[in-house]
Amino acid sequence: CGIVGYVGSRPALGIVLEGLRRLEYRGYDSAGVAVISNGSVRMEKRAGKLANLEKALADRGPDGIAAGSTGIGHTRWATHGGPTDRNAHPHLSADGRVAVIHNGIIENFTRLRAELQATGVEFASDTDTECAAHLLAAEMRELRAAGAEGPQALAEGMRRVCRRLEGAFTLLAVDVAVPDAVVGARRNSPLVVGRGEGENYLASDVSAFIEHTREAVELGQDQVVLITPAGIEITDFAGQPSAGKDFHIDWDA
Ligand code: GLU
Repeated sequence: CGIVGYVGSRPALGIVLEGLRRLEYRGYDSAGVAVISNGSVRMEKRAGKLANLEKALADRGPDGIAAGSTGIGHTRWATHGGPTDRNAHPHLSADGRVAVIHNGIIENFTRLRAELQATGVEFASDTDTECAAHLLAAEMRELRAAGAEGPQALAEGMRRVCRRLEGAFTLLAVDVAVPDAVVGARRNSPLVVGRGEGENYLASDVSAFIEHTREAVELGQDQVVLITPAGIEITDFAGQPSAGKDFHIDWDA
């Protein structure tokens, strides 16, 4: 339902939670965040209001989730799988290296899940979304084995996953091996980029980042966007360089 991503040099957690708060008006049944910190994905997610998530975060030991400067957050409106803690987003790959959030419906998830289960992957939720996390982790393993690494590998992994998905999706993902990047993708579901200085944002709606920047880029259909502290790179699902639509947000937040 609501999607926020941040990469920069400030702690991501507060920025992502504030973004989710600004998307609350859209309605949701669960919320969650994932931050890359000290070589791990630190995740917290809860059914119910953002206050439940914030309480869970407050009850955590100091494990770096509040310090990491790359993060994603989601408010969920359940379509597949009930509104429970385990079905809340983000969803992690079985190796714990990749975290994914998703708006929309992956129409062919039953087939993809069966295929992944046949390779020994165990699912931790009842969502259509989780298959995207396992697929991306498998692509990242393959890319690493072929010597590809860094933000470009993450973008390529996401493009490969998108080519296998049917339906409607806005996806954001992070990978522990690529600590300074968030990758996003969209088909039949909105995604906008917020352009900062030494930091960049992704969101389902500009209201999530409007207090930080008013320079935005609207992604076109079937595009993948890679954000790092240094820049924004957009391609189509085949990897051809593409452009979104630049615009200035001039209404009052
Ligand atoms: N289909 C996904 C789910 O049920 C995403 C729902 C949403 O757009 O929030 O978990």
